[in-house]
Amino acid sequence: MPDSAALPIPASMDETLTLMRTRLSHVIPDFEIQAKAEIAHEINVLKREMNAVILGHNYMEPALYHSVPDYTGDSLQLSVVASKTQADIIVFCGVLFMGESAKILNPSKTVLVPSEKAGCSLAEGITPEDVIALRQRFPGAMVVSYVNTYASVKAESDYCCTSGNADKVVKHLIAAGYKQIIFLPDEYLARNTASDVGVRYFAASGSDEEFAALPADEPVVIGWKSRCEVHELFTVDDVDNVRRQYPDAVILAHPECSPEVMAKVDVAGSTKLMVDYVREVDAPRYALFTECSMGDNLAAEFPHREMVRACSLRCKHMNTITLQDTLEALRKLQYQVHLDEDVITRARTPIDRMISIR
Ligand code: SF4
Repeated sequence: MPDSAALPIPASMDETLTLMRTRLSHVIPDFEIQAKAEIAHEINVLKREMNAVILGHNYMEPALYHSVPDYTGDSLQLSVVASKTQADIIVFCGVLFMGESAKILNPSKTVLVPSEKAGCSLAEGITPEDVIALRQRFPGAMVVSYVNTYASVKAESDYCCTSGNADKVVKHLIAAGYKQIIFLPDEYLARNTASDVGVRYFAASGSDEEFAALPADEPVVIGWKSRCEVHELFTVDDVDNVRRQYPDAVILAHPECSPEVMAKVDVAGSTKLMVDYVREVDAPRYALFTECSMGDNLAAEFPHREMVRACSLRCKHMNTITLQDTLEALRKLQYQVHLDEDVITRARTPIDRMISIR
């Protein structure tokens, strides 16, 4: 049985081509739509035969995003779908840590991530040993790991969070009386979250003497050094250039961007917040400071909205997922996510806590 509330999937090749042309004709050329519609149709046929569900992250390329996913969204939205699906196979068109989260939440399912190369600079920037060392250095601190970490790191954490609920998770812990919150691994998300919540930020690269000089009775967010290799490239000059060329544009930025960039934009938030904003708030134009496929996907989904399409920053990891890879993943049942039972058990609690704070 298909899951309820899924996106409608076209039944025939003609319907697939029509849907993709309707959505994408002002975003990508027709020859590309025609070529990709054939692959998309094959995927949709196979998906039904195999009782598979396809989850498409907001950063997928437009032809894939608008043709084969049963559900689209950010990692939190898709994690919730993965936890409830009745499908036998979950194909996660996103990066490896997302596939791992799906496996943790629904371990009896076969979970496929269509590319072996779909890593992430944040997830690769921290290890379980790093977390254990931080706990030893800051005894009693709570560990909040961004969902962009591998399962082995989540297993050493108390809470997970997304960019959409990072501030709520930190506020929840402060309200519960915790003074030290280790927030991993994204330096910029940690700094931006500390600023949003109104608490001090301390870089773990700082010395013990510097930490001891902080007021002991005030909460502090302790951050790591990793950064998203895409969002760290947005600069204050980029904001100024958009303002100069499109003074009426609303600029929305993802909190993996630097605090200096975040201070100059109009709206800060997750990719879900960006989708909701463009859908619901009438503005002359919208400029997105996030992975550029997202702007393409919103331009396709909301043709009556004017998107500033000046972005050239793509995630090399997300971009390894193609329609052809997705087809091969289903045909060969590759690449399956495997995790130790112990890791699944220990990583489940912080993820469940993340989902409960929305
Ligand atoms: S955009 Fe950044 S955070 Fe997202 S997968 Fe790519 S490197 Fe990781």
